[in-house]
Amino acid sequence: AKESGRGKFCVFSPEMNQRVFEYLWLDTNLRKALEKDQLIIHYQPKVTRSGEVRSLEALVRWQSPERGLIPPLDFISYAEESGLIVPLGRWVMLDVMQQVAKWREKSINLRVAVNVSARQLADQTIFSDLKQALRDLNFEYCPIDVELTESCLIENEELALTVIQQFSALGAQVHLDDFGTGYSSLSQLARFPLDAIKLDQSFVRDVHKQSVSQSLVRAIVAVAQALNLQVIAEGVENTKEDAFLTKNGVNERQGYLFAKPMPAAAFEQWYQRYLA
Ligand code: C2E
Ligand code: CA
Ligand code: CA
Ligand code: CA
Repeated sequence: AKESGRGKFCVFSPEMNQRVFEYLWLDTNLRKALEKDQLIIHYQPKVTRSGEVRSLEALVRWQSPERGLIPPLDFISYAEESGLIVPLGRWVMLDVMQQVAKWREKSINLRVAVNVSARQLADQTIFSDLKQALRDLNFEYCPIDVELTESCLIENEELALTVIQQFSALGAQVHLDDFGTGYSSLSQLARFPLDAIKLDQSFVRDVHKQSVSQSLVRAIVAVAQALNLQVIAEGVENTKEDAFLTKNGVNERQGYLFAKPMPAAAFEQWYQRYLA
């Protein structure tokens, strides 16, 4: 119940109450989690048309002593709202860089794509951090790519353009994540010098049975090819979806059909078996 005027009162609904409680819990605990090194990166491979794995996606999780493994959807939007996404994103980038350096020692040469939120772009330290890490770890090339969402591009087009150019200058590819779910149109794509689009899971799901999804996938692939963009499909769960996507020009596929996101050590084992 809510009433305005004299004797104003406001009673929180149980859901509001829970949201407020959750916000407060995150507010005290996520910052600590960062300090106490409770975050962990899981890696999910992408598979090329010829069956090669050249690149992985880094997906963060939170190992909470209180609640167990917490998925990113439960804390990333809080991190974005609170600004904590900036130090969190820096941690992700540096942790991934260190992992890639360890893999390099073992002659495992893979690129890793990192998810970057709009809020991180306004903060230019992401570039200085990346440059510093490349230098500290003696990389002659940049093994990191970035996945930006459509909202990153739309909120501030000028900034987005600069940021894409900065990443490209460093040698990072820029991929547009969740393509098709946001507000950007196919024609807006042309304005940004992107390297690839990631076709959202919603178009991939049952694509072999859904004629609307089939038309959309074909249209998106056609435009992407005209613009010289690679197409990566995410959320591929079965061979029928995969067959349709591959037949229709998708360049790389990612999803449970191939592998779930997993910690670095588990990925290495998976990769050894995959190569064997
Ligand atoms: P996303 O970037 O769109 O990542 C794809 C999500 O789909 C991941 O969820 C992944 O685990 C999941 N997935 C992969 N293959 C399949 C499949 O075959 N079927 C199904 N149903 N799902 C699949 P996850 O790991 O829970 O991440 C959720 C979102 O959190 C990500 O969506 C991304 O937007 C965000 N996120 C994750 N890590 C980071 C990060 O380090 N920074 C930022 N800013 N956002 C992140
Ligand atoms: Ca992503
Ligand atoms: Ca997605
Ligand atoms: Ca997403």
